[in-house]
Amino acid sequence: MTHHPSAATMLAHAAGRLPVAHGIVLRTHLATCPACRAEAALAAAMGGEMLADLPPAELAPGSLDRMLARLEAPVPAPPPSRPVPTTVEQLATGRWWWIGPGMRLMPLLRRGADDARLDLIKVAPGRRLPAHGHTGTELTCVLRGAFGDETGEYLAGDVAEGDPALEHEPVALPVGEDCVCLIATQGRLRAQGWLARLVQPLVGV
Ligand SMILES: [Zn+2]
Repeated sequence: MTHHPSAATMLAHAAGRLPVAHGIVLRTHLATCPACRAEAALAAAMGGEMLADLPPAELAPGSLDRMLARLEAPVPAPPPSRPVPTTVEQLATGRWWWIGPGMRLMPLLRRGADDARLDLIKVAPGRRLPAHGHTGTELTCVLRGAFGDETGEYLAGDVAEGDPALEHEPVALPVGEDCVCLIATQGRLRAQGWLARLVQPLVGV
C-alpha cells in the first residue's frame, strides 16, 4: 500500500466534514491501514486538545446542577460496534450494471443532500475508461486488482483522490483479476462520448 489519504481529507474526516460517501471510503482504507488509523486517532485527540485550550465561557444558571444530575444517571450500553465492510463480497449488496465492454457499476448510495454518491466499479484487466472528470471531489479505495491513471498506480488498499481539476483516463492494470474500486464522488460526471451517453442516463451520475 503506497497511496494514503491526504492530510486535508484526514482532518476533514476528524472534523466530521466529509460527505457520507467519502467517509465510508475513508473508513474502508482505515480498516486496512494501521498507519492511517494511528493518524486518525491522533487527529481526534488533537481536536480534543484544541477544545480544551479554548477560553472558558460563562455557564448558564443551573447548568452545573444539570450536569451533575446527568453524571449520576444510568449510562446506556453503547451499541455493539460493527466491523467496517472491506471486501467486495461484503460491499457488493446491489446489482451490477453493464456500462461498457468489461465494465460494470453498482450504485451503493444515491446522491444525498451533500451532493455525493457511492458506487462500486469493476473493470476487466487492460480495459480503459474514457477520459473524464468530476465537478467535485472524488475519493477511491481499491478493493481488488489495480489501476493506473495520470496520477500513479494504485493497488489493493490504496486511496486515490481527485478534485475538479483532475481529468483522467483510468486503466485496469493487467494483474490477472478485475479491478474493483469503491468510489465516492461529489458533483457531476464530466464526460464525452459513450461514457456520458451510456452511464449518465443509466445511473444518473
Ligand atoms: Zn493509509
